[in-house]
This record gives sequence, structure tokens and C-alpha cells, in this order.
Amino acid sequence: MLIVGAGPVGLMLACELGLAGIRPIVLEKRPEPGDLPKANGLGGQIIDLLDHRGLLERFSAGSPFSGRAPGFPFGSVPLRFAGLDDIPLRLLMIQQPRLERLLTERAAELGVEIRRGQEVVSLAQDENGVTLGIEPQGGGRREVRARYVVGCDGGRSRLRELAGVGFPGTTDDEVLRLGHFAADVHLFESPQVSGLQPGWNQMPTGRVLLTSLQQGVVIAGVREKGTYSDGPVKLEEFRAAVRRVVGEDLPLGEPIWLSSTVSQARLAERYREGRVFLAGDAAHLFPAGGSALNVGMTDAANLAWKLAAGLRGRGPEWLLDTYESERRPVAERAMIQTRAQAALDRAEGADGEALRALLTEVFAYEQAARHLAAMLQGSDTRYARYGPDSGLGREAGQGPDSGQGPDTGQGSEGGGHSLVGRFVPDLALADGRRVAELMRRARPVLLDLGGGGTVPDDCADWIDVVRARAEDPPAGTLLIRPDGYVAWAGTDGLARAAEEWFGRASSHA
Ligand SMILES: Cc1cc2nc3c(=O)[nH]c(=O)nc-3n(C[C@H](O)[C@H](O)[C@H](O)COP(=O)(O)OP(=O)(O)OC[C@H]3O[C@@H](n4cnc5c(N)ncnc54)[C@H](O)[C@@H]3O)c2cc1C
Repeated sequence: MLIVGAGPVGLMLACELGLAGIRPIVLEKRPEPGDLPKANGLGGQIIDLLDHRGLLERFSAGSPFSGRAPGFPFGSVPLRFAGLDDIPLRLLMIQQPRLERLLTERAAELGVEIRRGQEVVSLAQDENGVTLGIEPQGGGRREVRARYVVGCDGGRSRLRELAGVGFPGTTDDEVLRLGHFAADVHLFESPQVSGLQPGWNQMPTGRVLLTSLQQGVVIAGVREKGTYSDGPVKLEEFRAAVRRVVGEDLPLGEPIWLSSTVSQARLAERYREGRVFLAGDAAHLFPAGGSALNVGMTDAANLAWKLAAGLRGRGPEWLLDTYESERRPVAERAMIQTRAQAALDRAEGADGEALRALLTEVFAYEQAARHLAAMLQGSDTRYARYGPDSGLGREAGQGPDSGQGPDTGQGSEGGGHSLVGRFVPDLALADGRRVAELMRRARPVLLDLGGGGTVPDDCADWIDVVRARAEDPPAGTLLIRPDGYVAWAGTDGLARAAEEWFGRASSHA
């Protein structure tokens, strides 16, 4: 099992596979772990998943913020959640290099091998496996072979290109130049920035970001129309962009790091090509912030247990196909809200002002705020029921029956229960545990809350059975997938569901 790319998504996938007892090899072209401060944080269901794995405490140590979101900058329109109980959206401020370092540590604890300085340059596959050509740093060329390969190699994915999968979408005509500066001045007290607010500032020829997430470091960004060109950004280039948009220099201090990027909205035509899968930025690029790591890292959790089942020869035939049919609609939905954020950001002139003013009013309604919070969290995701008799094929999960969007389903038994296909609620159990604590090992869990239920003998080795009590249980018994989604709820048909999802040996591997 090979993973290409040791970014957050490849590392998350490696950790999930490691938990499932698979020892993947991660091939990474960079010789050293990344130190680019790209993402400043995680938002959404990935935080619940880190909680499931017992990692949340470790990952949030020293974080400036971890918890339920007090608000969210939706495009340039603020969403405010103050006074609203149980807003689903969770945020964890963590810089990407630290996230990658912690995931690397965790992968090492789980016995994953990361081979750095190994650039993948070719791909060939047949019905039994995939052969990758690698150019190691220092020269030479060699080949490695595996039964499955996952391309977690970022937005410019070589794997995606080599597998012949298109990446249609749009590229913004604005370039964002971003920098971290050592600012020993009280920036916002300086007369030169007196007209600017913390956060994004709309100017006639572009936008300027000024914010700080840690003492002594100011993050500054300038967004303006222009053509993006690859390569390092020089301080003079950054200053010139500031002058063009603000009209004067800003007292930003010494640069720690400078970069430029351009927003793109792209979705891979397919997430799977034979034995090659795509995850994270390799599969989707969103044009506004806050969702990329959430969707990418939860892609990894969705795929890992299915691949592990395939590699063990016990996954049903259809299981690996559900990666795409479950995850692509999630990315499509994230695309809707991130495109809307980008549009709100960019709408210009009086029309743009009117749009933002009106939506500021609309977002003040509780239902609107909750709806958007659920969308950003990903808690409105509902996977369709699969299985040989479900009548759902590869396209299942898309369209009106996918359950994406507001919950309209009502509770009933079995596959029709309103929890089926949804992320399991973190119930408090009478013995003092939470459901999240049952998910540490990333194994399927049959949670008997008084409804009874047993798993078939041939599943007993890999499904954990937990009998517990909870006040007001949502169902008698829940069958929870390793990625935290409810596969079945109720009592009738549980054994069969367990066998369908997790039990059958197959020739698929
Ligand atoms: C300025 C900025 C701010 C951002 N802020 C946020 C944020 O706050 N929240 C958020 O969720 N997201 C944010 N993002 C997006 C986030 O950084 C990406 O979504 C994330 O890095 C994607 O992770 P990944 O593992 O899919 O890909 P990457 O992080 O791109 O990792 C891909 C890895 O694959 C390796 N690789 C590439 N090609 C090959 C090859 N041929 N062979 C071997 N290895 C290869 C690369 O070296 C790299 O290590 C931000 C992005 C930027 C640029």
C-alpha cells in the first residue's frame, strides 16, 4: 500500500491505515517535513475525528483557540454564534507545520514508514497492482509496486495527471500575496494603518488582510487582479503590491515568510482510476478558506478502513466504490459554500455592499446561522445506504436522496433510521465514557444501548461490541463505522448489516 505525499492528508491516511494494522509506505518528494505556514487551523468534523482517535488534546495543546466556534468569517460577512447553544461548528487553531509534525509523530508511533526525497514520476497499473517510478533525491531511478496507491500529492497532483483524471474548474484572476512579519510595533496603533481594520479590508483596487494569531507575528495579505506566477515572493514585490492597493507602505517589520497563491475551484473528474485513488487537494481545491483540510482529512478517514478491508480480502465488492460516491458529494457541497464565500468576498461596488449588508441581516437569524454552521462543519453530511440489496449503485450519495443538506428524515428502525449515514452523536454513556472514546482504534463498533444485537461469527474478530446504557438513547443499537458514521441503527437486520459492511470475504482485493 503506497501513499504519495506526506502533507496533512497523506499523513492522516497513513495514521488511519496504521490503526487498521496496515503498514503503508508514504513517498514524499520533499527531503524535509514542510515548514510553510499555509493553513492556520482546522474547522469541522475532522476535529471530532481527532477526538475519536484520542488526539484532540495533543493537537490542541498550546493552540490559541480550540472549541465551538464563536463565529466565522463567511467570505467577508461575519457569522456570529454568540448566545446560540450547541452550534455544531468546531475550530482548532493550529499552524500547518505543527499539524504535519504531530501527524508525522503519530504515523511513526503506528509503524508507518515515510520515505522522503522520493519523487513519483511515472505510473502503470494492471489488474493486480500499481507500479510507480521514483526519482530519489541524489539521482537514479527505481520502481515500487503495491496493490493500491493513493495520491495525496496536492493540488498539482502528478498522480492525478498520470492516472489520466481531469481536474476541471476555475482559476481566480486575483493573486494573493501573503506574508508573516515579525512586528514589534503595535501595528493597529500606527497612523499608517489607522484606516484599516483587523481582518480583510476592501479597497478600490483590491483587498488587504491584517491579522495576528500569535504574539509578535502579523499576517498580512494583499489580493489584487493579476497573473499568478510560481516561485518565491521577494519583499520588494510584496511591498509594491501593498503600495498599489493601500496607496502607501505599511510598517510590517521583518518578513518571516512570504508566498503567493491563487484561488482555484476544482474537482477531480473521478476519485478512483482502477487501483489509484485521489484524496485531499489532489481531488479538490476550494476557492475560499476553512474547508480544505476538513474535507481532505475526512476523505482519508473514509478511504482508510475501506482500503484496509480490501487489502485483507474481506471488503465487499462495492465498498471501495463508496469512497467516491460518498466523498465527491461532500466536496461538491463544500464547493457551494466556498464559492459563495469567494463571491461574497469579491462582489464589488454598491452591488457588493448591498449583498453583504443584506446577508449580514440574514445571518443574524438563528436558523440561517445554524444551517451555515452545519454546512461548514460537515455535520449535514448524510451518506446513502449501500449494500448489495440497497438498490443504490455507484452514483448513490448524489442528488436529492443523498441526504446532503438539511435533515428531513425521521427516526425509524434499521437502514431508515435518521442517524443512519450520519456522524455518530457523542453520547454520554452511563459508565462515564463518551462514544468518541469507543472509536480510538478505528474499528467498527456495535454499540448496544439496550436493544440487544449480536454480530455474525465471521465478523466477531473485527467488530468491537460495547454494551452500555445512555439516558434517552437515540436507538437500541448502533453500528458505527470506523470513520464515525452510523451504518445501522435499531435492532432488526443488524447482523446482516454488519456482515454487509464489514463481514464478507471477497475477491475484490
Ligand atoms: C496560504 C494558505 C492558507 C491556507 N489556510 C487553510 C486553512 O486555514 N484551513 C484549511 O483547511 N486549509 C487551508 N489551506 C489549504 C491547505 O493548506 C491544503 O488544503 C492542504 O495543504 C492540503 O493537504 P494535502 O495533504 O492534500 O496536500 P499538500 O499539503 O499539498 O501535500 C502534498 C504533498 O505531496 C508531495 N508531493 C507532490 N508531488 C509529489 C510527487 N510527485 N511525489 C512525491 N511527493 C509529492 C508534496 O511535496 C507535499 O508534501 C491553506 C492554503 C494556503 C496556500
